[in-house]
Amino acid sequence: MGIFPFMSKLMRKGKYLFLLLLCLCVVAWIATFSSDDGVKTAQEELNPLDDVKSGGGFRQLELESEMMQSIEERVEEQLPKHSCPERSPLLRGSLKLSFEPSLTIEQVESVNEEVVEGQYNPSDCTARQSVAILIPHRNREKHLLYLLYHLHPFLQRQQLHYAIYVIHQAGDATFNRAKLLNVGYLEALKDQNWDCFIFHDVDLVPENDHNLYMCGEQPKHLVVGRNSTGYKLRYKGYFGGVSAMTTEQFHKVNGFPNSYWGWGGEDDDLRIRVQLQKMSIIRPSPEVARYTMVFHKRDSGNQVNKDRMQLLRRTHHMWMKDGLNSCSYKVVSIDRAPLFINITVDIGQPERDR
Ligand code: BGC
Repeated sequence: MGIFPFMSKLMRKGKYLFLLLLCLCVVAWIATFSSDDGVKTAQEELNPLDDVKSGGGFRQLELESEMMQSIEERVEEQLPKHSCPERSPLLRGSLKLSFEPSLTIEQVESVNEEVVEGQYNPSDCTARQSVAILIPHRNREKHLLYLLYHLHPFLQRQQLHYAIYVIHQAGDATFNRAKLLNVGYLEALKDQNWDCFIFHDVDLVPENDHNLYMCGEQPKHLVVGRNSTGYKLRYKGYFGGVSAMTTEQFHKVNGFPNSYWGWGGEDDDLRIRVQLQKMSIIRPSPEVARYTMVFHKRDSGNQVNKDRMQLLRRTHHMWMKDGLNSCSYKVVSIDRAPLFINITVDIGQPERDR
């Protein structure tokens, strides 16, 4: 056999072999695509309508977008928020106050949905101070309602992290504002480490939101004037109505005295304590530190304390024994209402009545 016949036989056989290999490739290619799960899944995702009958495609998309949203929220929560500006851009200055007789607590709640259990925290920045507002209270429901109505938006415009505590005296013993404020301080600190405390009468409504409810280097007196006194400071050493002290400042003076039952004197005692600790009282400008006092008659159960002058003469040696360190009381209940934390407390009665 010559070389040419041998070559032509080989080429014929090779052609069949080549055709066979080609067929095998085509079969393998078809098999690969028809069983490719990845491709199928991708197609399903791209065409959720194909899966409409089972509803699975939509559900899966929903789950995934929920998951993405919660991841984004967690990331946002973890990102450090910048500190609120030194001067809040939300302040409005002098305010028009209203005292609508038909006002209800539900109405006040409905315009303060961001307040939860008496507490508020700005959502877009970190507040410069955490402030506890303490309001001693008994039988002044309407005054409390007016105050809550004005105070919540006022504090929110100041971009504060705050909570409002109402300390309600149980029983019918003579009213003791100072002891209730000591209780408020001690109980509020069980919730969290507040930077600043505001001691606030229930019947005083601030008229200007430039009057900042924040504490400073020195104790602060916030009521320079009120409508009922022609907006004049009552006397040079007056420290009543609304005052602000840091947690440390109040601790340093051993808080308020517990022994002032009835109206008057306890705020003067606190001023003497402050002075004994070589601190001084500062006040905002008279144009800003203005209040409207909601009219009321003197309450029964809060008669003028006739012993107050005598007690004030003893402050310089009593302040260390009578105060936060000797404040005994029984909490009757703590109710975390939407707009305030209501602490009802049994503070006992004056020694002379025991
Ligand atoms: C009382 C204070 C009171 C002030 C203003 C003083 O005589 O001792 O407690 O705040 O008068 O009315």
